[in-house]
Amino acid sequence: MLCLVLLLCHGAVASSEREEEREAMVKEQVLARGVKDPTTLAAMRTVPRHLFVPGSMSHQAYQDRPLPIGHGQTISQPFIVAFMTEIIKPGPGRKILEIGTGSGYQAAILAATGAQVYSIEIIPQLADSAAVLLKQLGFTHVETRSADGYYGWKEHAPFDAIIVTAAAEFIPPPLIEQLAESGLMVIPVGSPFFVQTLMLIQKRDGKTISTSLMPVRFVPFKRADEE
Ligand code: SAH
Repeated sequence: MLCLVLLLCHGAVASSEREEEREAMVKEQVLARGVKDPTTLAAMRTVPRHLFVPGSMSHQAYQDRPLPIGHGQTISQPFIVAFMTEIIKPGPGRKILEIGTGSGYQAAILAATGAQVYSIEIIPQLADSAAVLLKQLGFTHVETRSADGYYGWKEHAPFDAIIVTAAAEFIPPPLIEQLAESGLMVIPVGSPFFVQTLMLIQKRDGKTISTSLMPVRFVPFKRADEE
């Protein structure tokens, strides 16, 4: 019932397809590892992850692992998506910036909570396919653009939360500027060739407070001039 209401409220197309696999994913991979926020769990139960992976990978969509999505990029492991979602507290009335749209799955999870999502992807083909899929599925609260996310999205700033889904060697200063007072940012920081640290950045009285959350492995944060 909660899912149905969520879907109707936020305009997305309901999908009962593979519901049992999603339920098992939430129970065994997400709840079992300590993610308990009901809003996050409802979104993970609702969004049809299998539609965000290439057709040849569809049978593995609910497994406990990241999967390739083309162009050398990956859709994150379900637990990581849930963990990062819980940290930034999405929900109705929250404005969230995502850097690294990729498949569009993380953006869909955020939008399913009722948040207004702005998502930037540097690879135009991925940006286009994610935009089409999100529209097809009825996620009206997501706006996407193809650009270098280093610069953020100034026109829509400040953001209540920023989620970066590619590993950066340092936190791009424009993203810190575009984070609202009391805002939350989650970002993997470190060398693209090693394990990185997932960091939580909080803005208080204009200053940032950083907390290390856990070791992670993400694809590299690219720059437009490297393309
Ligand atoms: N959130 C995605 C995960 C995609 S992997 C999902 O749910 O599927 C990370 C993505 O970040 C890749 O698609 C990569 O192309 C993109 N990326 C890397 N550097 C970027 C940058 N500077 N700006 C925007 N996107 C970037």
